[in-house]
Amino acid sequence: MRRLLWFRRDLRAEDNPLLSLEGDVLPIFIFDTNILEALERTDRRVGMIHAMVVDLRRQMEALGLDLYVFHGDPAAVIGALQERFGFDEVCASGDFDAYALERDRRVSQILSFNLLHDTYIFRPEEMLKDDGTPFLVFTPFYRAGRARFTPEHLREYARAEQRLLPFDAPPPTLEALGFEGGSELPDPPESLLERFAPKLASYKDDRDRLDRDGTSGLSVALRFGTVSVRAVLRWLVERKHEGIDTEPFSRQLLFRDFYAHMLCHFPDLAWKNFRYAWNGIEDAERHTAFCEGRTGFPVVDAGVRELVATGNMHNRVRMICASFYTKDLLLPWQRGERFFAAHLNDYDAASNILSWQWSAGTGIDPQPWFRIFNPWLQSRKFDPDAVYIKRWCPELQYAEAKQLHDEAWMAEHAPRGYPKPVVRHKAAAEAALAHFKTDTGGMHA
Ligand code: FAD
Repeated sequence: MRRLLWFRRDLRAEDNPLLSLEGDVLPIFIFDTNILEALERTDRRVGMIHAMVVDLRRQMEALGLDLYVFHGDPAAVIGALQERFGFDEVCASGDFDAYALERDRRVSQILSFNLLHDTYIFRPEEMLKDDGTPFLVFTPFYRAGRARFTPEHLREYARAEQRLLPFDAPPPTLEALGFEGGSELPDPPESLLERFAPKLASYKDDRDRLDRDGTSGLSVALRFGTVSVRAVLRWLVERKHEGIDTEPFSRQLLFRDFYAHMLCHFPDLAWKNFRYAWNGIEDAERHTAFCEGRTGFPVVDAGVRELVATGNMHNRVRMICASFYTKDLLLPWQRGERFFAAHLNDYDAASNILSWQWSAGTGIDPQPWFRIFNPWLQSRKFDPDAVYIKRWCPELQYAEAKQLHDEAWMAEHAPRGYPKPVVRHKAAAEAALAHFKTDTGGMHA
């Protein structure tokens, strides 16, 4: 058997189904011009992926294999390789957003496509309701996931006998790809798990606290597959045997599956509302204030500034920001989603889009439009001493925490250099409710 092994969201050699297939193999990675051309030349994620690819090549070489790296349109690259090598199949693990599905459809016209299961815990077809339709609500999905979980979901893929087909395509430099900046490898997953181990027991209480480092930091590794989700599950099983309650954390991993499956079943959720036709009102000034971290709402501004500076944002702040953008500023969720997409290191179409739809109240869950977060109450509860706020908004460092959680105080006395709130939360929330009440249409309503 002659196989083209196409690495995409599984940039690791360990526990990788691609390396469990026997035969003559050509392992490849493609820097996809369709994706890269839409990015800023300084996009830090390209440097990060570049470093991951170089590292994967090193891992492959250590196994006596190699990784050949291309820069182009995947269908064109694979078409040319097929002409030269005459493969029996191209093998790759599933990737479910609308672009990925279309890309794979084009490639499958060139060469038989062997779609492997790797990125998520469950295959989308494993997690259907008894009537064969997708779950639309997380809690029943979660219960079904627990009931349907078997040792197979923990399987560690062993390496098969593989013979490398000779070729020569070393990774292009970052400059050759047309990008600037460094190629920095994120922390290895093993050290993330090691650092997270002592925090796992208090994850449930700490995960929402902005002033505590209570989460795993695994999202980038899971996004690009530098860690296998099954390896994380096996690690969790060991912790459970030590008597630690691993359920709150496992639940979040199931959320990741739920969102990926939803986007796989309903690809047009990427741009269309699931329920409710109302989409927000374009307002360039408000959008700019949000993107510059200058709304006068400290927790929102801190979150956006963290995102722009680091490519990361705490989950609770992502929720606060998305609610603020859609409910307080009344802006279209699609624009906010794009802003996050342009900056998040862990950007994942399914998690980002479905979370934005959830926050906008246009999504699949059955509690629609009244989900409005009060940013002032949120920051008081989850960043009581304003540690997070002051870290990202240094011009607020001399204000007292209680003042930074108080809209009236901030509207009167905003510290020098910091804007007054661009809207008043109560009035904005009422306006949002009024908009939603006038609208009950929508794609799947
Ligand atoms: P932990 O709390 O340690 O969670 C462990 C893992 O579970 C995460 O790495 C992630 O893979 C998964 N997970 C956790 N929470 C969620 C969630 N709510 N939904 C789906 N999966 C989850 N996550 C992304 O990976 N990419 C995105 O583009 C993304 N966009 C988001 C946009 C919004 C508006 C919101 C509210 C959430 C978004 N999330 C996204 C989910 C979540 O914020 C991140 O996964 C989390 O902050 C990553 O930090 P962590 O790895 O320390 O998470």
